[in-house]
Amino acid sequence: MRDLYFTGGRILAGGRARPGSVLVQNGRVAALDVPAPAGCAVVDLGGGLLAPGFLDIHTHGGGGTDVNAADAAGFADIGRFFAAHGTTGWLCSILTDSEERTLYSIGQARAAMAAPVTGARLLGIHLEGPFLAPEYKGAMPGQLLRTGDAALFRRYQAAAGGAVRYMTVAPEVAGVPEMIRELAGEVVIAIGHSGADYETAIRAIDAGARAATHTFNAMGLFHQHRPAIMGAVLERPVFCEAICDGRHLHPGTVRMLLACKGWDRVVAVTDSIQAAGLPDGRYRLGVNDVVVHDGDATLAGSGVRAGSTLTADQALRNLVRFTGQPPETVLPLLTENPARLLGLAEKGRIAPGCDADLVLLDDALRVRATWVGGAKVYPA
Ligand SMILES: [Zn+2]
Repeated sequence: MRDLYFTGGRILAGGRARPGSVLVQNGRVAALDVPAPAGCAVVDLGGGLLAPGFLDIHTHGGGGTDVNAADAAGFADIGRFFAAHGTTGWLCSILTDSEERTLYSIGQARAAMAAPVTGARLLGIHLEGPFLAPEYKGAMPGQLLRTGDAALFRRYQAAAGGAVRYMTVAPEVAGVPEMIRELAGEVVIAIGHSGADYETAIRAIDAGARAATHTFNAMGLFHQHRPAIMGAVLERPVFCEAICDGRHLHPGTVRMLLACKGWDRVVAVTDSIQAAGLPDGRYRLGVNDVVVHDGDATLAGSGVRAGSTLTADQALRNLVRFTGQPPETVLPLLTENPARLLGLAEKGRIAPGCDADLVLLDDALRVRATWVGGAKVYPA
């Protein structure tokens, strides 16, 4: 792989955006602000901002491909779509499905992870279910929800070769508290799709749950006498996912979440579906038929919201608008915070030793180019 020397713009490193240069060798950041080695290929940033690529840890697809229906080639298609929106690493969120169908998706994801990278890198699997609460199922097929079953999780994890990095569970579902205790050292556990009371949610966090899935959406909400799962995840230092499309959460709710949690504990996710990047129409989300109208995805028939059509770069622009903060303040929600949640020490930052997963943004925070492991993946 060719060494690259990025210069002629601003670099987001160490929490600051400032003029500088980045030397990439063997797919990693080798040094910042050193002279260009002789013969090294120079990338002119054209006055733009070079930032760590975005990490999306909760998404069901985009660009026309649904994670639950995708084969390995479909996962690569999703990766290329994401790269065009600045994402360099992602977890595929497998929506609750039958064991047979879930095992199919896991196998395809594993094959995609082993294939050469042509877009955003598939970093692993997020299981959204099946251990969720029927009353808060959102777009989950109710008949496929299950009580806690660590043996089922272990079958999935064995099929994945350890690639299940993240799982959403509802702690009030029978058997789930035992599962959290048993599995917290093996997989990052988030709580969500849940109406758990405060005490049950706190016990789940004390037992090892480390995040909240799409905070405020599909969960029991705060009341001063019954703080519920919402009160528990705001109070305790867990990471909180947030869907910042301006539909799932009012901008004021996003600001309140940031005021409660701080800028280091909120993870911006898209929860996008195959319709992301495509016009209004009829689509699929796992086993569901979905209608997208004015960019808003809902289940056909019930009108229940079913994921989003958000892209990560749009989430960044929304967050800058919602908070009035500069991109360097907002970007950790899409980079460092998800990397820390998943324990990805070499992702989410521009620093020596980190993977050269990079995005070049213009002044309007539009994506100009994306690199994964030092290889340009957008524009192709
Ligand atoms: Zn989801």
